[in-house]
Amino acid sequence: MKQLATLLLAVLCHSAVATNTPKNIIMIIGDGMGPAYTTAYRMYADDPNTPEVEQTVFDRLLVGMASTHPDIDTGYVTDSAAGATALSTGVKTYNGAIGVDANKESVQTVLELAKMQGRKTGVAVTSQINHATPASFGAHNESRQNYDQIADSYFDEKTNGQFVLDVMLGGGWKYFIRDDRNLVEQFKAAGYQYVDEFAQLDSVKVGTPLLGLFADAGLPWALDSANQLRLPTLAKAAIRQLENDQGYFLLIEASQVDWAGHGNDIGSAMAEMHDLALTLEWLEQYLVKNPDTLMVLTADHSTGGLSIGANNDYSWSPKWLKNLKVSPAKIGTQLMTAKDRGALASDLLGFELTIEEISSISAIESDKSRPFHKAIAKILDSRSNTGWTTPGHTGVDVQIFAKGLGSERFRGHLDNTGIAQTIFELLKDKR
Ligand code: MG
Ligand code: ZN
Repeated sequence: MKQLATLLLAVLCHSAVATNTPKNIIMIIGDGMGPAYTTAYRMYADDPNTPEVEQTVFDRLLVGMASTHPDIDTGYVTDSAAGATALSTGVKTYNGAIGVDANKESVQTVLELAKMQGRKTGVAVTSQINHATPASFGAHNESRQNYDQIADSYFDEKTNGQFVLDVMLGGGWKYFIRDDRNLVEQFKAAGYQYVDEFAQLDSVKVGTPLLGLFADAGLPWALDSANQLRLPTLAKAAIRQLENDQGYFLLIEASQVDWAGHGNDIGSAMAEMHDLALTLEWLEQYLVKNPDTLMVLTADHSTGGLSIGANNDYSWSPKWLKNLKVSPAKIGTQLMTAKDRGALASDLLGFELTIEEISSISAIESDKSRPFHKAIAKILDSRSNTGWTTPGHTGVDVQIFAKGLGSERFRGHLDNTGIAQTIFELLKDKR
């Protein structure tokens, strides 16, 4: 009895100081990652030697669905700028808007509130760091196309007298090292460490502000990267720099799922999904050790109208996507100058091309790589029986995945603005 009383007292005392506010919030966006992508990835990752189709990390983390439409004057189908602005500010806006509402007025983002509260903040993405999604968390601009202005604002705009972002990892040399302004030198002078190679991430001083740029614009495709774990590497490095007593807010983006969707390129799409899945598996373990942390993953929209099965044929064969040595885009570039196109494509795709497939690439007369890339993507589509409806975005709902402190608040159907509003509520709750 005495033991029970002690236990009850312990529980009561604990709940009196229990906090609803996560110390650390990790928001992850799979750009363009509609439900067909996570389903296709489950089949792609399936072990064909077992009767069941194994669960993926996405299945384990699933909690709800989100609607994605932008400000209704724009229509029902969002772009990544309006989508990310909804997710960062809780406000619907027009396509192309970066952290501003439909009247082009700046709106506070969850990242900025986290910063105001004393948390450290960061972005780790596979696009350039001033691309629409990360920009919508750390900048305000009437147009996503104003890349130089957005890059400048990361240095010029201050929150609470401080830089908005303590850690920036991704691509972007051409925007940060320009003839008219060298933002890298400015950040260095302001005390940031700067790295431009993945290997240097291991030797940076832990806990200090960090700018890491690894490409002119977006990073190379996962399939073309020397570091096959590019997003997990960026995510781990960002967290190492951000961890501190006051907590942090980190935005991670698998930016190029969307780019593969725009290219109707199923081979690259699955490789980008794998890069994200490995990141999530690592984060799952991180949360076991850090139960005061929340991770929330969603997509801003779906891209390409990806269809698992096509042409009235009830099949899908991801095995053809598993032996790619490089991306279909890179195969396309190499085919431009190849003497034996059939042999080169067979080698890089990892299977022997048929006579029809070889003639589909032999017939191309072009000095551009795009027609070759398209032809390779088509071969993979017909081998795997993959369909696409558009080179653009679609308006389908996307999933919400969450784990950790406060994750139950993301269950069921939310609008994308509701995801941001819930994060604002969690940040504003007493700790
Ligand atoms: Mg994006
Ligand atoms: Zn897109």
